[in-house]
Amino acid sequence: MFKGKYKIPGPKSKELLKISDRYEARCMNQQAPIVWDYAKGVTVTDVDGNTYLDLTSGVLVTNVGHSHPHHVACIQKQTGRLMNCYDFPTPERIMAAKGIAELMPKHLDRVFMLTTGSEATESSMRVAKRYTGKFEIISFYGGFHGRTGMAMSAAGKTGTKKRFGPLIPGHIYAPYPYCFRCPFGKKPTSCKLFCLEFLDTVVSAASTGDVAALIIEPYQGAAGFVFPPDGYLKGLEKWAKERDIVFILDEVQASFGRTGKMFALEWDGLRPNMLCLGKGIGSGVPCAALVAESRIIDCLAPGEMSSTTGGNPLSCSATLAVLDIMKKEKLPENALKIGKYMLGRFKKFQKKYKILGEARGRGLVMGLEFVKDKKTMDPAPDITREFITRACKSGLLVGSVGIYGNVIRVAPPLVITKNEAEQACDIIETVLKSFD
Ligand code: PMP
Repeated sequence: MFKGKYKIPGPKSKELLKISDRYEARCMNQQAPIVWDYAKGVTVTDVDGNTYLDLTSGVLVTNVGHSHPHHVACIQKQTGRLMNCYDFPTPERIMAAKGIAELMPKHLDRVFMLTTGSEATESSMRVAKRYTGKFEIISFYGGFHGRTGMAMSAAGKTGTKKRFGPLIPGHIYAPYPYCFRCPFGKKPTSCKLFCLEFLDTVVSAASTGDVAALIIEPYQGAAGFVFPPDGYLKGLEKWAKERDIVFILDEVQASFGRTGKMFALEWDGLRPNMLCLGKGIGSGVPCAALVAESRIIDCLAPGEMSSTTGGNPLSCSATLAVLDIMKKEKLPENALKIGKYMLGRFKKFQKKYKILGEARGRGLVMGLEFVKDKKTMDPAPDITREFITRACKSGLLVGSVGIYGNVIRVAPPLVITKNEAEQACDIIETVLKSFD
């Protein structure tokens, strides 16, 4: 029987979880059975006083670290001044838009501040439809863009839309390059990006000739931290542009330093027509943004798209603090450096431990895909769940994702130090060993 340093849930967590079970909707995921109390940097403390290293960042949200002093000070100051005003601009909203636009490729020159990632992706598809006068949207197997109507219709995972039909008409799905489980049974070394070539077949079979846009994640999050091979995204962008299809990049979770660059589009020099931002943009305060080319988003007249809390001064002050901290503390660079170290360790674990089918990632977003057997590659969701519990007992918080629920997500706040990363990797190795 696996022991670990903590007995979880502790008595206070247990009591609160009982109340939660009685009163809270049960549609949320619960990873390890503890109740968080407070957090600082990369460390979380539960209501029983147990402390953990956090490799979740919430769900890739607290990029600047928990309770970062500058972030907290800016938020506290703003709450005492102004919280909401809807259709009057504020210095915070204007400066957040300016701050984001100045970091973008030049053509992405307009920013629409919103509150959630789903709102950003939903808005991007709305704009694409109005701009093109067409209605079809191409999205990808395994893709996740949120839970509102169009975002859900664009999902490439059954779990997101199961028994919520009918979906919005015009959604077309194409295979994402999940090379570890290639839907065509090919290998990335020899496939010549066959999945890209296959897109024309998809469109000719499913489209009425009215494709407005395609929406894609630079790496797939919910599907299991799946990274496309080199050249795929740039090739896709070219494919879309040659066909006058609006190219939407969903960086809701990939942005704000997560992959080791401020925005994931920088890796391949991508030039999407629209970019969706969320999560790390507020680093814990609900905030999101749609960034678009003015020639595209200006197809909407004043009053045609709005959001009650979108661009509120509190969220925007959090965004301004995030922009400051990212730059001053060079967090994308730290993500790159520490991510390299961690992935290097994980690649060694992959060779050594039989349940670890693949370790992959970029910057501080890494996936450990668990299998029952390396030959059959059968997904191992039960082992993955047990891994989360054992890690928690050992003082480490991780979550799971994946089409099969068999991928551990490793995504700490970007302020993580080498020493903390070493400790985290050591715990992961100890837990991996416990399955041998
Ligand atoms: N797009 C992507 C790529 C996401 O990962 C998520 C959230 N997991 C969303 C959109 C939706 O964001 P939200 O939950 O803030 O609506």
